Amino acid sequence: MDIKFNHIESLCASEPKLSNSTEAHKNPIFASSTFKFESIEEGIEIFQSQPGKHVYTRYGNPGTESVAQKIADLETFDTQTKGYGLLTSSGMAALYVALTAVTETGNLLITQGNLYGGTTELLHKIITKHGIQVQILDLSDEFALETALKSREDINKTILIETPANPTLQCLNLKSICKLAKTYHAKIVVDNTFATPILQRPFNFGADAVIHSTTKYIHGHGLSTGGVVICAEEDLFKKAWEIMKLVGCNSNPYDAWLINTGMKTLSLRMTHQSNNALYIAQKLQSHPKIPKVNYPGLKSHETHAIATEQMNLYGAMLSFSVGSTLDDAMSFCNRLQYCSLAPSLGETDTMVLHPASMSHLRVPAEIRNQYGITDNLIRLSVGLEHPDDILADIEQAIAIL
Ligand SMILES: *Cc1c(COP(=O)(O)O)cnc(C)c1O
Repeated sequence: MDIKFNHIESLCASEPKLSNSTEAHKNPIFASSTFKFESIEEGIEIFQSQPGKHVYTRYGNPGTESVAQKIADLETFDTQTKGYGLLTSSGMAALYVALTAVTETGNLLITQGNLYGGTTELLHKIITKHGIQVQILDLSDEFALETALKSREDINKTILIETPANPTLQCLNLKSICKLAKTYHAKIVVDNTFATPILQRPFNFGADAVIHSTTKYIHGHGLSTGGVVICAEEDLFKKAWEIMKLVGCNSNPYDAWLINTGMKTLSLRMTHQSNNALYIAQKLQSHPKIPKVNYPGLKSHETHAIATEQMNLYGAMLSFSVGSTLDDAMSFCNRLQYCSLAPSLGETDTMVLHPASMSHLRVPAEIRNQYGITDNLIRLSVGLEHPDDILADIEQAIAIL
């Protein structure tokens, strides 16, 4: 059966198609590191046509490949792009593979200052070692971006975008940035971890590659670490596959199986958690001890209009300031009774992070303040609970301030 669904939630709930047929209702875990050949001739043929049939799990496995293709189908749903997916060992591995596949020594990589912390470190400590220059820009400033793209015509450029961005949920205009990139023949890589393909599909705007930390919403249950690279062109996919194979940052049959199980409810979770986040953001906005709430779904958010244009819902991440000082934020965190203090996001339960002391600890205070990451800012990854229960926990924790 090869049904083409008209609705993305049906694709989420479905079992991805395996390249070889099996009788099981649910795909089994292909716990094998090696695949055997019928004959030496078949072995030679299979080796020559890589990536293709299965040889060795570091090269590919029926479980990892079918799940990678399912995510590629989700990211390209209702777009003009076909999409080729590759599962990796983590979101960081997905970024490394995607960025080294699109660039070559001597290229320029243009990106924003408010990336996921690990991504900024990866760029400065590893990607630059490949002879790639990294330029940090305010990507919402089209004039600055165009100037950078126009400069030094002799070198190829790639733009790396993360939207919404951590932790102020700044949204960047995918349509206008991709249009500028096309004009100057620059490549575009988008980290779509916060939005997922349920809320935003960068291939609609002409992205060359999309990556995810599947550790977050795609898996959604906090039981697996992983990443995915989705390429718009087969040539780019083949380069990415080779890097993954040789670096050995492939996923494995167990994580692929967990990712797929979690993904069945991706559409339900994103919808419910986004609605919860909007409800909570609206309530917090009128709280006297909360000076600021950052949520793209609020009219007061500086990039509300961009989010409305390019996202289906506003996502399940928000941030807000409590009281006025670092001490206020710390005592707020310590008084929370239900919400977990944990450095991740995108799971079924609500998680709280204090950016100034956790994710952005190594960022100097003046730069933190420039990006709106004040000492009293709290980040919330809103879960599936009843939003009034989350609010009650926040309100009791804030009461003493
Ligand atoms: C978590 C995260 C990553 C890194 O993913 P890992 O799975 O932890 O390697 C990259 N980008 C974003 C936006 C993230 O939230």
